Amino acid sequence: MITISATLLGKLAVDNACERCFWRKFYLKKLPFDHIPGSYSTYDKAEKLAVEAWISSGMTPPWMSQFGEIAKLIPPPHWSRFHFEHGNMKVRGVADFICVLVSGGLLIPDMKTAKFSDAQEKWIPTYATQLGCYALAAEAQGIGTVEKLALIYMQPQAEGLDSDKMRDDGIAIMHKALMFGVDRNDERIHALCNRAYEILSKPLPDASETCQDCQRLEALLQLKEIPTP
Ligand code: SF4
Repeated sequence: MITISATLLGKLAVDNACERCFWRKFYLKKLPFDHIPGSYSTYDKAEKLAVEAWISSGMTPPWMSQFGEIAKLIPPPHWSRFHFEHGNMKVRGVADFICVLVSGGLLIPDMKTAKFSDAQEKWIPTYATQLGCYALAAEAQGIGTVEKLALIYMQPQAEGLDSDKMRDDGIAIMHKALMFGVDRNDERIHALCNRAYEILSKPLPDASETCQDCQRLEALLQLKEIPTP
């Protein structure tokens, strides 16, 4: 049995996914230059706490209400208890939120701190796979039936400095929410599990033809003297 995170499985879902990168990420776990700036973790935590407080007070944030009123949140289980199996693969993860709708079904949203742009759009298959894995895990663990999957972009607003932002204790930065649903496709996730097993059961695959970074890394490691112009 191979255990993989939903996040890593999702990386195989984009067009031209590099199987070599996928293989290395799985076996090395931590790659060089693979850092998330600390400010993003702070934003992430603040946004999650705000949503939890909002829903715990009995209200649904208006920008989250397009799929119906939220009755309550279920604390997301630890990754060791949130997984599903397909063939020889076990896929695990941690959901940002598991919302119980007034209808009784579950809504699982994933929150990103970023502006929604063309560059972000190309990652939607990755995020949809990640969310689809959470749906399969929630149902496999008997948490409930998943009705909706959604992405929420919390978009920091850099434009203008109006009086709302100017405070005695600092500057308030607005994170404007954009929420939209993503399709669930269990069949595609099962096919990705089969593909992942296939890749990870073999030696290192060839590099992608569209990425030059392996060559650049090799050049970086070889550079020991001042290069001749
Ligand atoms: S070719 Fe690019 S994407 Fe593929 S393993 Fe090398 S660095 Fe990663």
